[in-house]
Amino acid sequence: QDAGYLAGRIQVYESGRDAAQQRQVQLIRDLRRAAQREELLLHYQPKLDLRNPASIQAEGLLRWQHPQFGMVSPGEFIPLAERTGSIQMLSAWVIEEGMRQLQAWRQRGQVVLLSLNISTEDLMDVDLPERVGRLLAHYQVPASQLIFEITESGVMRNPAQALQVLQGLREQGIGLSVDDFGTGYSSLAQLKRMPVQELKIDQSFIRELHETSEDAVIVRSTIEMSHSLGLKVVAEGVELQDSLDLLKRWNCDSVQGYLISRPLAAAAFEAWMQRPLNSPVSSVH
Ligand code: C2E
Ligand code: MG
Ligand code: MG
Ligand code: MG
Repeated sequence: QDAGYLAGRIQVYESGRDAAQQRQVQLIRDLRRAAQREELLLHYQPKLDLRNPASIQAEGLLRWQHPQFGMVSPGEFIPLAERTGSIQMLSAWVIEEGMRQLQAWRQRGQVVLLSLNISTEDLMDVDLPERVGRLLAHYQVPASQLIFEITESGVMRNPAQALQVLQGLREQGIGLSVDDFGTGYSSLAQLKRMPVQELKIDQSFIRELHETSEDAVIVRSTIEMSHSLGLKVVAEGVELQDSLDLLKRWNCDSVQGYLISRPLAAAAFEAWMQRPLNSPVSSVH
């Protein structure tokens, strides 16, 4: 067939695809250049240590300011990056940006304990511990200021390989936390074999927490079992004062959620660090 005929066919095919699919194709293509075009940034969501409210802690959350679509949620682009081989580049950017920021805060006398999300693919990368170690040295940030959040599915895909990488990170002194706990298939017994120190109960169990709900049974027993295994527990997605009160009563170690603060741009997080410690949320301690 001649080229005109083919071009026509492609045209029909293109316009026949729905907008969502076209958006995906474009996001996948643009992701590869997002870092070098300086479209990425980290936001910081405060994490409140209920036993030590003066300690400054945060989770770094990736944001992508797309030139055409505006702010694209990581819930949308992280899974695309994982499927198309861009995730390691994103993780590398996140880790370096986190350390650059930790160094800048240290230079102003602020010691922040920062949690960063890493993906399944990163746990398959045996060079990760050494690379992170070099970055820590370069930015002069103690490993004790860094926690990596991993997911259950990330570990379960290839437990032996993941264990090797996790042990390497642990040997550097980096903290390890299991994110979205309760949504995967692993048990606390399996986690016990992983060198993790912390577990984050998924927000789906926290958001509508009432004393008598099924979620309450799950959350309470997860806290108790974790503590008997020597793990710290973070509740994520805390939106209501009542939930916070219950979590305190049940000895949850830390909380994160819109009730404490939404994720903040670096400058806003710096303002948050300066808040008086007797502000409403921290004083309920
Ligand atoms: P996550 O690590 O479980 O992070 C918590 C998510 O819940 C964040 O969404 C946060 O903004 C949101 N959140 C926090 N508190 C509340 C609350 O009280 N209510 C509600 N409704 N939501 C709350 P975000 O920033 O959109 O991130 C979504 C997910 O994308 C993250 O879930 C994480 O799995 C992934 N992600 C974000 N940044 C990165 C990154 O740098 N690397 C990787 N690999 N994944 C990332
Ligand atoms: Mg997380
Ligand atoms: Mg989570
Ligand atoms: Mg998540």
